[in-house]
Amino acid sequence: MTNEELWEAALGEIELLISRANFSTWFKNTTILSNENGKVVIGVPNGFAKEWLENKYRHYILESLRHFRQDIKELSCSIYNYQEPESARQVDAVRPTAASKRMSSFPANFAKISQESNLNPRYLFENFIIGESNELARAACFAVSQNLGRVYNPLFIYGGVGLGKTHLLQSIGNEVIKNSSPKKIKYITSERFANGLIESIKNQSTNQFKEEYQKIDLLIIDDIQFLAGKEKTQNEFFHIFNALYQLNKQIVISSDRPPKSIPTIEERLRSRFEGGMITDIGKPDLETRMAILKAKLAERDFAVKEEVLHYIAENVKNNVRELEGALNRVIAQYELNQIQPDIPFIKNILSEIISSGKKAGVQSINIIKTVCDFYNIDDKKLASKIRKRELVRARQVAMYLIRKEINTSYPTIGELFGGRDHTTALHAYEKIEQDLEKDERLKEEVNTIMDRLYMP
Ligand code: ADP
Ligand code: MG
Repeated sequence: MTNEELWEAALGEIELLISRANFSTWFKNTTILSNENGKVVIGVPNGFAKEWLENKYRHYILESLRHFRQDIKELSCSIYNYQEPESARQVDAVRPTAASKRMSSFPANFAKISQESNLNPRYLFENFIIGESNELARAACFAVSQNLGRVYNPLFIYGGVGLGKTHLLQSIGNEVIKNSSPKKIKYITSERFANGLIESIKNQSTNQFKEEYQKIDLLIIDDIQFLAGKEKTQNEFFHIFNALYQLNKQIVISSDRPPKSIPTIEERLRSRFEGGMITDIGKPDLETRMAILKAKLAERDFAVKEEVLHYIAENVKNNVRELEGALNRVIAQYELNQIQPDIPFIKNILSEIISSGKKAGVQSINIIKTVCDFYNIDDKKLASKIRKRELVRARQVAMYLIRKEINTSYPTIGELFGGRDHTTALHAYEKIEQDLEKDERLKEEVNTIMDRLYMP
């Protein structure tokens, strides 16, 4: 058995023992550098992988290796100069997914085509860390990128702010470009779509606008929730959608909530979305947050002590964007002062990020505004006596959040909502609290509202 075969066999076992996120983060581009007298040296691409493999995975690695070579006793890792072009062998040995096989084969004009499609060439499947919270969404996106218009159409991904929707959506486009297929791709946010349409109406070029869209093979519309309430835009979008759909062209959509929770979206559009594949993306767990931090550090060739990273991952939980933000601050501080970040230092930096929400000044007015934006209703109506169902729900959610987040007294809450009695506020609080236990949709809605409320 050559070293190469040995490592491949051991990886096959390790892969089954640890999470996919960790496997693809830490074992990518590793190899056996030497294997003599029972001492194995694993080549790893950077210091993080070295630390991680030697400490956390030592046991798994030794066990797996010993299944094939009983004489192996010792293990160490050494950073070796991993080089992309000649790497096909090592990459394959590590994880023979279709994605990693192609890692080194970007077409020469990749960045250019990417930009023409309005994509950011940095958003790739390769640098998307997989964890339980995003595994399904990632798999669906990847499948779509390999089979445009044939597997899930439309594909609808939803989830809170900063959880990786845009990253995944754009990865589909970039993957298609990487595969050198001559497909016409367009990525656009629903807001820009709406603006483009309005512009074309002004210039009397609506037909041309529509024709352009109908040439597209892969249409990616980000943040579709912004079409809520825009009837004319929805109507045009519906026609474009149908035309593409009938031609088996791929449509991918994202939103901060599932189709059924988007208010004032036309029923026929909603049922179109529901006719395809709908999948959500959740908040990353601690393990995934650690893996993301390590991957981002490795990308930037920067090292931080394990305990410091752990502190960040433990404390920044809401979304990946905040996690990246925290890391960027740490690096910026280091570059400024050349001090190795330690825990007190990190605490100080993070206190600004963490306290930007709860402690620092969220007021009832922010809550009311966020709730009204979410449900797409006029904030005056919230204080009115109108008892339409959607309005009652929004009112109760706002009362609930005001009590829960800033602990306002029930009489004051009643006051805020057009001089209602304090029992109304109390009832609203209890009702929502109860409903949250059994109503998944409500839970998602409240989570999204909270995310928006505390968005930096
Ligand atoms: P959303 O569109 O859901 O608001 P983004 O896709 O903009 O979120 O993600 C926010 C940031 O976090 C981006 O820089 C993105 O690259 C990064 N990110 C999110 N999820 C992951 C992940 N699983 N692995 C690596 N980076 C991620
Ligand atoms: Mg986004």
